[in-house]
Amino acid sequence: MPYPMHAVILPEYDQPLEVDVVEIDPPGPREVLVEMRASGVCRSDWHAIRGHLPLPVPLVLGHEGAGIVREVGPEVDRVHPGDRVVLSWIPSCGVCQYCVNGQPELCDRANNAAVEGTLPSGQTRVRWRNEPISVFSATGTLADLAVVSVDSVVPIPASMPFDQAALLGCAVQTGVGAALRSPIKPGDSVAVIGAGGVGLNIVQGAKIRGAAEILVVDPSKANRQLARDFGATQTIDPDSDNPLLAILDLTHDRGVDVGFEAVGDVELLALAFNAVRKGGTAVAVGVPAPNDAVSLNAFAFVSQEKTLTGSWYGSSFPLRDIPRLCALWSTGQLRLEPLIQRRYTLADTARAFEDLAKARGGRSVIVWS
Ligand SMILES: [Zn+2]
Ligand SMILES: [Zn+2]
Repeated sequence: MPYPMHAVILPEYDQPLEVDVVEIDPPGPREVLVEMRASGVCRSDWHAIRGHLPLPVPLVLGHEGAGIVREVGPEVDRVHPGDRVVLSWIPSCGVCQYCVNGQPELCDRANNAAVEGTLPSGQTRVRWRNEPISVFSATGTLADLAVVSVDSVVPIPASMPFDQAALLGCAVQTGVGAALRSPIKPGDSVAVIGAGGVGLNIVQGAKIRGAAEILVVDPSKANRQLARDFGATQTIDPDSDNPLLAILDLTHDRGVDVGFEAVGDVELLALAFNAVRKGGTAVAVGVPAPNDAVSLNAFAFVSQEKTLTGSWYGSSFPLRDIPRLCALWSTGQLRLEPLIQRRYTLADTARAFEDLAKARGGRSVIVWS
């Protein structure tokens, strides 16, 4: 028997969101039904709303969620009803060439499911107006219930609040993971361009790695303040200072060891590249539009032996990395609560995305009472 529930639906690109009643089927083989308790509002959903991410519509939004397992399908023995879990939007298969080579974030099966708007089975369990509809990145967490692959489900400690746990599913894993898997060494200098939900977590990750100097560029005063709270040693307002000159000035004209772009803007990616020292590494973390191209000085690329690399989902393997993030949280080295700046109900999701578009600092979370 299908269950009725409310979900946030994008009916068509650039059209108003609908919070409507849909039906969700029970979980199929290797699938799990999760009652959502919190779901973060991420810029990737906003890119889908605007049509920058060409995902199939109508679409149930949301991919940064935490909740309680309510039902498991056949062939599921890793989690049980009542388990508290966070969801991964890359349900990696474990057997494709990327998974076996240690890059599960590039899993073919998971990425195909995301593009098709389905679960890894190739199906979706949600129906709207009697027609199957897509889910965002094999999850669809902006809904009362979500059926996901068991490969998307990671248990969390009983003591972790759901709103904080939800952020582990995208922003924290993406930002902290990018820093932890970058070449930052203890004592290094780091630049982070953009202090939104992901950028703040790069700052946290850089601090955990032992970076001595963490320079953050962001035009929002509130974001700069948050960045300082999370460990930035200097912040730069690009509206009043040339950020490249400011970074060079703060590093004795050398440049930083590692630079991160956390917005998805190609000019800011060039800034991150230009801000790193000879032999340094720039990491692209923010997600640009599919056809964006970046212009870099090719001579510097060669003669200064710079590295430019991408980081997708923090190069994370959630089954391995979420327990580690939970351990860092339980010892106070990873902070989640201050990331949450606003809470909304599911009915208020459209307003949450409007506030996101206004670039209000920190993370917004939809919570179920
Ligand atoms: Zn996200
Ligand atoms: Zn795979």
